[in-house]
Amino acid sequence: MSTVNAIAAPSATEPLVRTTIERREVGPRDVRIEISYAGICHSDIHTVRGEWGRVPYPLTVGHEIVGHVTAVGAEVTRHTIGDRVGVGCLVNSCRECENCRLGQEQYCLTGNTQTYGAVDRDGTITQGGYSTHVVVDEDFVLRVPTAIPHEAAAPLLCAGVTTYSPLAHWNAGPGTKVAVVGLGGLGHMAVKIAAAMGAEVTVLSQTLGKKDDGLRFGAGSYYATSDPATFEVLSNTFDLIVNTVSAPIDMSAYLGLLRLDGTLVSVGAPPEPLAVPVFALFGNRRSFAGSSIGGIEETQRMLDFCAERGIAPEVEVIGADAVNDAYERVLASDVRYRFVIDIDSLR
Ligand code: NAP
Ligand code: ZN
Ligand code: ZN
Repeated sequence: MSTVNAIAAPSATEPLVRTTIERREVGPRDVRIEISYAGICHSDIHTVRGEWGRVPYPLTVGHEIVGHVTAVGAEVTRHTIGDRVGVGCLVNSCRECENCRLGQEQYCLTGNTQTYGAVDRDGTITQGGYSTHVVVDEDFVLRVPTAIPHEAAAPLLCAGVTTYSPLAHWNAGPGTKVAVVGLGGLGHMAVKIAAAMGAEVTVLSQTLGKKDDGLRFGAGSYYATSDPATFEVLSNTFDLIVNTVSAPIDMSAYLGLLRLDGTLVSVGAPPEPLAVPVFALFGNRRSFAGSSIGGIEETQRMLDFCAERGIAPEVEVIGADAVNDAYERVLASDVRYRFVIDIDSLR
């Protein structure tokens, strides 16, 4: 075991504090990573505040991790010391179930091992990326292409793949009309990736306050959802709506924006149920779906796609002591467009 610096949530109601956590010794198939940057995902906030269920406090969150390899186990073949690498939301899975065999480890039927708050193979609780180092099985470590700026790469490991996966699955591309609901961490990546895939992209945001940014990220149009006229003008329009909102939305209103055989996929994960009126699905034979992050191979494809297409998250780099303020700003939809913790401030 080694003791490393970290930031942890002591409880659902207290601010995050500086602390130390333990990391396991590097096993034969493990990679030790010195972390450079860790993104702040809204899921970190849902989790530490206990909105999604019981939490093993104290807990270090963070599942958007980028850094360099500093040690490898004897059997490691995929990574070498000095490599620039990333870790996302998963650090293990059963590898044997039907879904794992398909490369869909995020849907592991026996339950994958999440990067934080999960019971690891050795019985310890996994601790996330708001820390100086992490030890991860090599199969769950991604190669981060050098074309992606280092401080901007971390959010791709969750926000990037969580939006890439449904856009790819539902065939966003030339000739398809895609709407992105919510222009935050996930939303701004959805806009950039969908536009790079060739889709015609519309942003649906609470206000027009971020319109210039949305158009710069690749959207062709931008509407305020606070204006009821938006839902009339855009009715029966989209092939795919990617909902990234962290709170419940009026499902009936948004489903009405789908054209024939369109799908509304929710990646946003509010603690409350999303109420789907079945009659809103009947019109235009619409579908309502969910999607969870992405598999490991798919995450690598997304990283390579972003590197090739020159796509990177828009980040605001902060020090370790600014994390609690950053959480408040995320909750107030005041994020442009992802906070990233400079882990050097923890050393
Ligand atoms: P975020 O940066 O806070 O973005 C959410 C955006 O939703 C906000 O910027 C805001 O956009 C909009 N919004 C927030 N509150 C709203 C409200 N009450 N009504 C309408 N719109 C509202 O969060 P994020 O990190 O992108 O995460 C978004 C959600 O996805 C979270 O629930 C998170 O847990 C979930 N998530 C799911 C997965 C998955 O695998 N499915 C992975 C990662 C995250 P505007 O200001 O533009 O309106
Ligand atoms: Zn996340
Ligand atoms: Zn499995």
